[in-house]
Amino acid sequence: MSLTIREQIEEREVEYLSPYATLSRNTRGREREEPQCDIRPVFQRDRDRILHCKAFRRLKQKTQVFLLPKGDHYRTRLTHTLEVSQIARTIAKALRLNEDLVEAVALGHDLGHTPFGHAGEKALNHVYHFSHHRQSLRVVECIEKGGRGLNLTWEVRDGILNHQTAGHPHTLEGQVVRLSDKIAYIHHDMDDAIRGGILTEEDIPAEFRSVLGETCRARLNCLVHDVITNSMDRPEICMSPAVGEAMTDLRKFMFQNVYLNPKAKGEEDKAVHMIEQLYTYYVKHLELLPQQFLDALSNPDNSREQIVCDYIAGMTDSYAVKKFEEFFVPESWKI
Ligand code: MG
Repeated sequence: MSLTIREQIEEREVEYLSPYATLSRNTRGREREEPQCDIRPVFQRDRDRILHCKAFRRLKQKTQVFLLPKGDHYRTRLTHTLEVSQIARTIAKALRLNEDLVEAVALGHDLGHTPFGHAGEKALNHVYHFSHHRQSLRVVECIEKGGRGLNLTWEVRDGILNHQTAGHPHTLEGQVVRLSDKIAYIHHDMDDAIRGGILTEEDIPAEFRSVLGETCRARLNCLVHDVITNSMDRPEICMSPAVGEAMTDLRKFMFQNVYLNPKAKGEEDKAVHMIEQLYTYYVKHLELLPQQFLDALSNPDNSREQIVCDYIAGMTDSYAVKKFEEFFVPESWKI
């Protein structure tokens, strides 16, 4: 009997990929069993499911760096996601890892991000125990597709849940995305901060520039090369001590000078306040939630607070502002 196209692709993976790669045919499987596609192996199919979901499309109207929401060239949560995917695929291809798995995890990793970047996350974490990596998993498991979830493979869900700094993804592909996320945001947030006049190239301490390079582009190139050369034919994803340390310190520098910049604080407090008010209002007025979220309340595993968080975390920046205006600004005073 002749093999299907999917089976032929799976055969090629066995011949071509690194012994440390995750083979599509070795998946631990989906939440609910379903028939295989005759063309696409499992991770490719998961990648497509994520790309077609509604939460993915909303990423285009979610802030990346709170301080810089406007202007055609600043990153959004969507372009951040695409940059993570591109960096992760470059690394995966060089290391002969499973690019489809890497791409699926990368495209899904920030689906649970709140409106207003980390200001929104901070607000929901203040009123309810919330973090975006756990929320990304909720989106793919029980919010998308009218509450049925995308029924993704275990490996993709593991990579999404464990992409945060303290996480330990079980596959090398998940580890590649976890590191690529950091490389991407350090790189593009710095580029955006320079574009927005929050930083100048000269503000970046000489010790980072001497190790990583003199320009944003050179630094990105250095980080990606370092991961590849230090992880080649190894069962883990590593960086050299010098470059790894410089990257950690550069991340600290970005926190002090961009993410927690005092100029941003005042504005950020407004966003936090807005999200907290919306949360309190919806908890009191559950009837205002869309039907899908009301239906989810009949599941005893879901508290009303959890469901309100699910709804608010899914909002785009502009939708959250619109709802805030609707509930808290009298009609005649709306702009
Ligand atoms: Mg990210």
